[in-house]
Amino acid sequence: MYNHYPLSHSSKINLYPVELISIENLVVEDQNLGPASKELLEESMNNWSKALGDNLTFALKLADLERNSHQMVFNNNGLMEEFSSLKTIKDIESFSIKYGLLGIKHPENTQVNSHSPAIKATLQPSIIFTKYDLSVFEPIELWQWHINEVRKIMRLYHTARQANSDELLYEVIEIQMHSGMFGSLAEDRELTQRYFVHWTNGEVILMLPHEYEENSILDIARYTLAKILESRISGGINLGPGEVISQSSTKEFIIAEQRYSNYLLAAIYYDLWQTINNSKNIYLCENKNCQLPFVKSGRKKYCNEACKQEAYRIRLTEENNKGKSK
Ligand SMILES: [Zn+2]
Repeated sequence: MYNHYPLSHSSKINLYPVELISIENLVVEDQNLGPASKELLEESMNNWSKALGDNLTFALKLADLERNSHQMVFNNNGLMEEFSSLKTIKDIESFSIKYGLLGIKHPENTQVNSHSPAIKATLQPSIIFTKYDLSVFEPIELWQWHINEVRKIMRLYHTARQANSDELLYEVIEIQMHSGMFGSLAEDRELTQRYFVHWTNGEVILMLPHEYEENSILDIARYTLAKILESRISGGINLGPGEVISQSSTKEFIIAEQRYSNYLLAAIYYDLWQTINNSKNIYLCENKNCQLPFVKSGRKKYCNEACKQEAYRIRLTEENNKGKSK
């Protein structure tokens, strides 16, 4: 039940069908799935409900057996941009019907059933939303969290490339000091103070290594970008053999390398990495109510047509109000 997403070339792939469901209407017994998938669905739904509590409303799930898998020519290029521009649940639904589930496994039984405060503390998005594996059921919150995450990374990259970016970077990330026991070995677990990089909404990203503590915010921002990509790619990208290319005149041949992923989400983060390495420009939508980052092509100022029109309406209202106040 793994999908197979090629990353270094485009090719035709088969995708398992997906559907959007409302949790209150989902009865696992009535699902027309194979016994293994049904068991996985049951466990997945239970564990996600325990981890997320009453918040669970909508989810994407593997569709019933009678729904056929579909074929498409998959090209990784531009995937991240399409993903980051998803706004409504309807948008998310169309994207997942087109490309499949993200490939994030539900939290473990031991994790959701534990009474230990240390284990309960692991029930946070950056831990439970990031484990690549086979999945048949994904809460909409998981999708929304990653859409936001990708947008924040795009914003960080965009800001790091601005002239005199230092002050602007503090609007995206911030450095905070925490005291605690941060050593990984039992013998060096003593109370120390360390610096951490956070998103400005408060969510922690990473602990700053000692050698970065005196560095500029720009250095720290670049380091942070690299580390976020490392953690999102890790366990998600595979290397495999491609074509065997032989020379007709000699007996020499090579076996080409191909990258691929079984997880749509890893393919999205891989495309984000490629976007950075190809020095593509990322801009923020000029609609005041949106300001979302998007990959710029041509002279586009808005992330989509709706934003362009909203910005136009806002401008008209402002001019009208100015006229009235005279
Ligand atoms: Zn916009």
